[in-house]
Amino acid sequence: MDWIPLGGSPGGIFNNLEVFVHMCIPMKERLETGDGKNLGLTFTNTTIMINVAVDLGGTNIKIGLIKLGELIASTQIKACSDQSLEWNLDKVVKVVNELLTNNQITLEQLGGVGISFPGIVDSNHNKILSEYVKYKNAHLFDFDKWAQDVWSLPCVVENDARAALLGEWSNGAGKGYENIVLLTLGTGVGSAVLVEGNLLKGKNFMAGNLGGHISINLNGDKCNCGYIGCLETEASTWSLPLKAKKHPHFHKSSLSQKEVHFETLFQEAEKGDALAKELVENCLKAWGVGVVNMVHSYDPEIIIIGGGIMNQKDVILLYLNDFVKKHAWAPASQNVRILPSVQVDYAGLLGMDYLISNLKN
Ligand SMILES: [Zn+2]
Repeated sequence: MDWIPLGGSPGGIFNNLEVFVHMCIPMKERLETGDGKNLGLTFTNTTIMINVAVDLGGTNIKIGLIKLGELIASTQIKACSDQSLEWNLDKVVKVVNELLTNNQITLEQLGGVGISFPGIVDSNHNKILSEYVKYKNAHLFDFDKWAQDVWSLPCVVENDARAALLGEWSNGAGKGYENIVLLTLGTGVGSAVLVEGNLLKGKNFMAGNLGGHISINLNGDKCNCGYIGCLETEASTWSLPLKAKKHPHFHKSSLSQKEVHFETLFQEAEKGDALAKELVENCLKAWGVGVVNMVHSYDPEIIIIGGGIMNQKDVILLYLNDFVKKHAWAPASQNVRILPSVQVDYAGLLGMDYLISNLKN
């Protein structure tokens, strides 16, 4: 890296200035406007490290090579949920190595590997705590050893919603805010929370992650987590068909002729189908209650909403903004903003890049 000292160097505590700079200044924006000036350094970034980021989703695995917060190559493969985590990661290694070759990137240019995982993650020890139905045996997997054995690189593992929040914070809708709740509305409901610039984790690494499993209905259905009336059981992709099919008027609804998911639900509601309209209203209300619960719990400046359901984002955001204004406590009710995610596809990858770039040695 070429650098010009303007007011003294950081001193002798860092043997490797490049590592120091890499740790402190992960984002292009920060180089341009922030920490670089604080250090008294000017940079021309010719040899800054490239990070490997992997987002293990329920259906797909996204893989990216990222340099200074910019995705320079990416692809995705199908997740094979009936196979072990190790089996899936073998596929990931092959794809990453292909990306490296195709982009003429050598191992020496790599800074680290980041894995975002759909479950509870002990990110201090890179351990999966939940025994998730997908990625069998993930809770037994040694990520550090794997990353060392394969590429001789340090590794970071984090929950997928926290990774997405960090991606939005560094490169998306959360830029410039220090108090953020992220909610992903999709197959399930994921959540993560940043308070005064700190990612909430808690004693068991669950803090902020269970927004989808805060009960909103004492008389509700049993959730797949074992609890009753969770936000997920009231309004998510997995629960919607169950809710529709057990409704007494289902057979009279146009939904009975369709595959029930949110796209068909909103379409049929638009056409005037009574059951579809009722279910849309129930789902919007459920998400509204979920959002107000998060506002009351964490007092954010913004709530970022992402996930597959955001194809209908205009309707959903309008409803949620109105619901929060009506039902949340003041002054948050008037101040908190509900925003759509900006990094719809790559927030998780960008968040893992952020974490690797901030690795403490
Ligand atoms: Zn639940």
